Amino acid sequence: LEKAPEPVVQPQVRSGFDVQAVRRDFPILAERVNGKPLVWFDNAATTQKPKAVIDRLSYFYEHENSNIHRAAHELAARATDAYEGARNKVARFLGAKSAEEIVFVRGATEGINLLANTFGRQFIGEGDEIIVSHLEHHANIVPWQLLANAVGAKLKVIPVDDSGQIRLDEYARLLGPRTRLVSITQVSNALGTVTPVAEVIALAHAAGARVLVDGAQSVSHLKVDVQALDADFFVFSGHKIFGPTGIGVVYGKKALLDELPPWQGGGNMIADVTFEKTLYQEAPARLEAGTGNIADAVGLGAALDYVERIGLERIARYEHELLEYATHGLAGIPGLRLIGTAADKASVLSFVLQGYRTEEVGAALNREGIAVRSGHHCAQPILRRFGVETTVRPSLAFYNTFEEIDLLVSTVRRLATRR
Ligand code: PLP
Repeated sequence: LEKAPEPVVQPQVRSGFDVQAVRRDFPILAERVNGKPLVWFDNAATTQKPKAVIDRLSYFYEHENSNIHRAAHELAARATDAYEGARNKVARFLGAKSAEEIVFVRGATEGINLLANTFGRQFIGEGDEIIVSHLEHHANIVPWQLLANAVGAKLKVIPVDDSGQIRLDEYARLLGPRTRLVSITQVSNALGTVTPVAEVIALAHAAGARVLVDGAQSVSHLKVDVQALDADFFVFSGHKIFGPTGIGVVYGKKALLDELPPWQGGGNMIADVTFEKTLYQEAPARLEAGTGNIADAVGLGAALDYVERIGLERIARYEHELLEYATHGLAGIPGLRLIGTAADKASVLSFVLQGYRTEEVGAALNREGIAVRSGHHCAQPILRRFGVETTVRPSLAFYNTFEEIDLLVSTVRRLATRR
């Protein structure tokens, strides 16, 4: 067995981050897989849930469960308070002006589709242009293609350089009088690139275009302030920030949300209905037809409380040390090619190993209890930009440790030297 590489630094000591205390908050991290302790390096796909979130969901179902808004009884009041309380927490977490700027949806995918079908249908027409980047997840490509095909608009793509960072100079050239929307990820799920969204937004606004930021991969790794960024819209998924699946968020500036037409029709989004005419609620209710994921929204609120208790600045600092350590360890393995080497990165490592299919690497890691994603990560265009169809993608969170990275590196190194 190859010896694990010597640690470059002892970053646990340096950052003073008590990772063992954090790990105790996540019951699933005590699981064993193939007889080995679970190593969860699939955080970009979904994150694990702390006890605080699991308990909050149970508490809701044991003490508060009711539909919201409609019934005038005690449990309806409790459920409504819990749901609207979660909306307030999301607003505070994102730095929104008010909770009225927060729409609950199922996740980032539904959020982007909502905006394509409301903002897009209202403000993007024939000959207009939508700009996305080469880094986007399919969720931030396909809804715009569907819209563009339906209304006769054009989709333009910001290219990336060889490190996997977007080319701001090329972006500036793509912007024009017909640009209606720029929709861009803040962190790439495939490469980990942190994009310069503040500059992207400023340039778009100077050209008269609106900007949607896909925060699915960013909110759990770096502090977001939608007002400081001046983002027009921002979406994220609860399950990628230690919250439940089935809940996500669309942030929109209130004045913009108020201009959006309804998307789905049904209960909750109306003020008055006759067979002749329906009057709609204001945002956000207008965009939340039917019974939402009430408990999961409440669980998301608990997840955000949890993250804020630890502090995103501390999380980002620790994760950065983990990322540097893992990058250094993997880069030293013969035949391993790391893809995505931008100066500004968050918590994702993407690589291919000469002589092995990516599924083989994933299976070998799984035998050691290590969960990574091997595949196209729902971001085929960016992988093809680097000449590959799939990569192995370990993605980190603040409950990961340097010892887990040692195990990852030694397992991959063993494969590489056995070739
Ligand atoms: N955008 C990015 C950058 C993502 O990484 C993901 C999920 O991997 C999504 C959007 C879609 O998120 P969801 O599947 O939770 O809707």
